[in-house]
Amino acid sequence: MFIDHKYIEEVLESSKNATKEEIQEVLNRAKKSKGLSHKDIAILLETDNEEQLSEMYKIAGEIKESIYGKRIVMFAPLYVSDYCVNNCVYCGYKNCNTFKRRRLTQEEVAQEVKILEKMGHKRLALELGEDPVNAPIEYVLECLDTIYKTQNRNGEIRRVNVNIAATTVENYKKLKKANIGTYILFQETYNKPSYEAMHPKSLKGDYNYHLTAFDRAMEAGVDDVGAGVLFGLADPKFEVLGLMMHNEHLEKKFGVGFHTISMPRIKPAEGMTLENFPNLLTDEMFKKLVAIIRIAVPFTGLIMSTRETAEIRREVLKYGVSQVSAGSSTGVGGYTEREKGGSIEQFITSDSRSTLEVLKGLLDDGYIPSYCTACYRKGRTGERFMKLAKSGEIQNVCEPNAMMTLMEFALDYGDKEILEKAEALVKKESERIKRDDIKILLKNNIEKLKKGERDLYL
Ligand code: SF4
Ligand code: SF4
Repeated sequence: MFIDHKYIEEVLESSKNATKEEIQEVLNRAKKSKGLSHKDIAILLETDNEEQLSEMYKIAGEIKESIYGKRIVMFAPLYVSDYCVNNCVYCGYKNCNTFKRRRLTQEEVAQEVKILEKMGHKRLALELGEDPVNAPIEYVLECLDTIYKTQNRNGEIRRVNVNIAATTVENYKKLKKANIGTYILFQETYNKPSYEAMHPKSLKGDYNYHLTAFDRAMEAGVDDVGAGVLFGLADPKFEVLGLMMHNEHLEKKFGVGFHTISMPRIKPAEGMTLENFPNLLTDEMFKKLVAIIRIAVPFTGLIMSTRETAEIRREVLKYGVSQVSAGSSTGVGGYTEREKGGSIEQFITSDSRSTLEVLKGLLDDGYIPSYCTACYRKGRTGERFMKLAKSGEIQNVCEPNAMMTLMEFALDYGDKEILEKAEALVKKESERIKRDDIKILLKNNIEKLKKGERDLYL
């Protein structure tokens, strides 16, 4: 198997007492963007000298700026079913929790989608528990169809990323045919004994089957996959090397690795507390991991959900995170029910600001909130996307797209303040575009948007 536990433990052990000089050598290499070896990553994980930490954040910030510019991709989760046959120790939806479970009807899915569209969202992450009887693949396909078909005035969902349990090549082919965006699956933990302890007696309990899910997805033609670890289940240093080895395995076998990595930290949920988890991450360690992953895999998007507080999200946006959710509900039917007092949530969120508040915060910090979904719609996925990203040309595409989608948002869903902030930002940022043809195109498209045209992109 491509996650070699003994090897990871040896690399971590041999880096344990890394000296200040050794850490500095790795930081110098990181600056040159020449890539990092497993040993380099393990050494960086040992950094705790204040000066070297600040240097590491600076390097990660520069790498992020050079690849992603100022744009931050926005998305929201949509939970459609909390039926689940598994008993993941850390999750509020686990089978042994007794509460009235539900699965949304297609009318209810459409209702949720309309609310999300009214919030300005264009990109969703479809979420549900694993239950082959109550929520089989056919149900997921129906939901996808409903989501793509549901429109609300100018609102439409243009990309649905799907987070469903590990499944067969056959089922992945069905998802591919239904036009999913990224297939998201968290390994939760790469450490096999911890994995087995966290997933007792369940479908999800088969470590190898779960670990090879992306292999089957890619065999089925899903070339856009998003990984993740639930930090807090096992040694975080082990997890970082696990993520790297998984990514390298896919690159070697299929020519393309993770499109995104999600970095949730374990949170309290219905029926569990954090007392029995000895590997919880401090904020300091969490920030360090974000920076190291950004340096190690510069072209892989880093996702942060509303599990984290507004303060932490703001901090890690500086040197790592490129995608955030906003205005999220993590309960089934949660957007419809939010006003009524809420449904059972999969976990407790920490950033409860509205979408508009999140956007204002991003704009005030100089970011361009982006609702762009152009790559996927132009078929630029998997290897084609990575080629473009690595060529640096994506800069001429993403930033103008981010500005157009921001203006579209501001015109349709923003208040006066958002519109003014967006206009000022677009004016300032468009000056920095180097190519005159792109500058002119952007200016013309912004005018077209003001006159009522929609969905313009490069
Ligand atoms: Fe079910 Fe997923 Fe929760 Fe596990 S993490 S109990 S599979 S919903
Ligand atoms: Fe993402 Fe592609 Fe849009 Fe760039 S152009 S923001 S890579 S979808």
